[in-house]
Amino acid sequence: MPMPLIAGNWKMNGSLSLVETFGQALADADLPSRLEVALMVPFPYLESASRALAGTRAVLGAQTLSDQPAGAFTGEVSGEMLREVGATLVLVGHSERRTLFGEDDSAVLARVRRALEVGLTPVLCLGETLEERDDGRGETVVIGQLEAVLDALEAEQRHRLVIAYEPVWAIGTGRTATPEQAQAIHAALRRRLAAYDDGLAETTQLLYGGSMKADNAAELLAQPDIDGGLVGGASLKIDDFLAICQSA
Ligand code: PGA
Repeated sequence: MPMPLIAGNWKMNGSLSLVETFGQALADADLPSRLEVALMVPFPYLESASRALAGTRAVLGAQTLSDQPAGAFTGEVSGEMLREVGATLVLVGHSERRTLFGEDDSAVLARVRRALEVGLTPVLCLGETLEERDDGRGETVVIGQLEAVLDALEAEQRHRLVIAYEPVWAIGTGRTATPEQAQAIHAALRRRLAAYDDGLAETTQLLYGGSMKADNAAELLAQPDIDGGLVGGASLKIDDFLAICQSA
């Protein structure tokens, strides 16, 4: 079983004082010993968060990166810069990036490659829309998004990803996938990983995301193929976030 991972995705929320609050609380928290914790904060807070989390078990992540290493790309942030300020993970292909910022599978792949080049762990996000699910295409869409990246990588590179299944209809809607719905997709993802190589299926952390909260985390995390959570809204309140960590 892969090590459980609970990752908070603050999106475009939070503040420097929230960074301090999380740093303090995570330093004092008595977390389960078999658990990894990560916090994905907005770019301007990365450096402070790196300091605030230094005395804690949590590692630092960013929410996206440029597909370019450097140059005239106003407003963009490179993987090298993220590493320099202490990030070790980066979200790639979050559905908000795919839909609001037009990142298609090839843009997602380019960012995964860049993350791997600089030694960041990409947290590759996959998920179907409600329309796709209602059409009975949910699993096909999600597996297609996975293959669009993994088919293009070297075998060794595939072992350096975390995968997050986030049904688009469950993100920020309060409508969580049932444990059975989530487990079914996670099992399909695990099978697809096994078709690349057995070791990959055994070691890749498969996170669920989409309205995960303190009161539904335990039953989602109890599913055999759910290895952790990518938590949006509930990662902005330290008590909720710690409660989710405790249920992992
Ligand atoms: P949510 O967001 O927990 O607020 O639904 C999850 C995510 O988008 O990562």
